[in-house]
Amino acid sequence: MKVTRWAPLLALMLVLGLFVAACGDDEEEPAAGGEQQEQASQVEEFPPETTMGRIQEAGEIKIGVKYDVPPFGFQNPQSGDIEGFDVDLGRAIAEALGVEPNFIEAISDNRIPFLEDGTVDLVLSTMTINAERDMEIEFSEPYYIATGRILVPSDSDIAGVEDLAGTTVCTALGSTYEETLKEQAPDAELRLVDSYSECLELIQNGAVDAVSTDDVILTGMIIQDDTLKLTEGEPLTTEPYGAGIKDGDTEFKEFVDGVLEEYKSDGRWAEAYEKWVGQYTNEPQEPPTMTLEEAIELSQ
Ligand code: GLU
Repeated sequence: MKVTRWAPLLALMLVLGLFVAACGDDEEEPAAGGEQQEQASQVEEFPPETTMGRIQEAGEIKIGVKYDVPPFGFQNPQSGDIEGFDVDLGRAIAEALGVEPNFIEAISDNRIPFLEDGTVDLVLSTMTINAERDMEIEFSEPYYIATGRILVPSDSDIAGVEDLAGTTVCTALGSTYEETLKEQAPDAELRLVDSYSECLELIQNGAVDAVSTDDVILTGMIIQDDTLKLTEGEPLTTEPYGAGIKDGDTEFKEFVDGVLEEYKSDGRWAEAYEKWVGQYTNEPQEPPTMTLEEAIELSQ
């Protein structure tokens, strides 16, 4: 994906996004009473001892998302609404249960603890499926395939991972890039922070030379600051995203996989992709066909 093509278009996306928010988006409004009832009657009711039943009883599903990574999970500065690709998928899962989504901020390092302690029912937070995490939680089938890239100021001499030796590179604590950078750039100094917005600030004020993480997150930084660019060259990694679910809850995993399968096949995935990514890159993409097993194998 070429950043030169992304930057102006994504800046436009932000402006249009704000414009739409300012005008009020009727589609986002909750359905009127009658419609809501009609929807609710179409929703399968689950036994109370299942996670789905417990969520239905509560009337809401708590979903851990990012608040600072457009276009996947971010708080619209104008409306205060939480928006993005991950958020749209979360809304679809809530809708399939006939409940309201409650989006809770989940940064990279607290996604698994939040599932373990029940702060959230589900994580949709740009979370890569890998073997290590799969030992601690359940994952849905992959719902998006990102790639690992490097972001630098436009006038930087850093052209790729081989130039990171002796530089300071920012990434998030608890992200896959802690390992990736140690392996692929062993002579770089790592600056590990809680949230990606801190990396953005650090590169903007010159405290770090580069930021490394998923392409979609770095693109969000370019939306906010077009003096930044992605380095060219091969991606560092492939990062298949999965929904995170509490360890052992295979029933809920199967439910989420069912929603995801429909979301991919009935056109909603393509719609969300087009809305948040595709229309600005002109790079069509099909919903991922990679299986969970393949995603786990990729990391081994
Ligand atoms: N997808 C990577 C991960 O799950 C990086 C992005 C993030 O930190 O959320 O670690």
